[in-house]
Amino acid sequence: MEIKESESVITDERIIFDGIYLIGGPNISRSEDATAFVVDCGDELVMIDSGAGRSVEIMEKNIRGLGLDPQKISTLILTHCHIDHIGGAPYFKKHFHCKLAAHELDAEAIATSDPALTAASFYGTSFPPTAVDVILKSELVTLTFGNQEIHCLHIPGHTPGSVASYLDRKGKRILFGQDIHGPFLKSFGSDVGQWKISMEKLLALKADILCEGHFGIFRTPKKVEAYIKRYLEEYS
Ligand SMILES: [Zn+2]
Ligand SMILES: [Zn+2]
Repeated sequence: MEIKESESVITDERIIFDGIYLIGGPNISRSEDATAFVVDCGDELVMIDSGAGRSVEIMEKNIRGLGLDPQKISTLILTHCHIDHIGGAPYFKKHFHCKLAAHELDAEAIATSDPALTAASFYGTSFPPTAVDVILKSELVTLTFGNQEIHCLHIPGHTPGSVASYLDRKGKRILFGQDIHGPFLKSFGSDVGQWKISMEKLLALKADILCEGHFGIFRTPKKVEAYIKRYLEEYS
């Protein structure tokens, strides 16, 4: 889309890369939302995460505001089972008939709306039992949308079924790392040892842009590496 000079900073902030947009998150939808994204794949749109649930209409408006038709959302990739990432999933599934994709080790918590594992009880909210349509089972699953491949890499640690999505577009690699920073809680089924291995996998991707779940967008390979390494040092 064309960026006009008169448009606000927020509008700039929403454009991550060509056809990749931030549509939810603190300052964008509601403060309790983790970041949520839309990837324009031509005939279809792919969403990555969906906020905590109370801001679904704001996110829908944000999608329309970018000139995109939410009816074209074919798949919503859920990076893990926490409410601040999955809360909007029932709404998007119901209204736009998109498929929900999640790793098998987190899919059951979503399907059964486990209040502890989804952290819904922690957030003082509830989540309806919601079936996952595309169960990601292996270390790396590549989903294809038109000409765009989106890779889903299993990165256990924060939760057992955490997934990082990444894609290559116009010579750049964009990584949706989400909750890289943790936290690591027993009630989440966290495993710091596994997380360290997962972070090495993310470093090996040598991404150009990192979209974090709560702490912003990192736009050079150096900044991406430094961000991940900072947390590896913190938990070493
Ligand atoms: Zn989160
Ligand atoms: Zn989380």
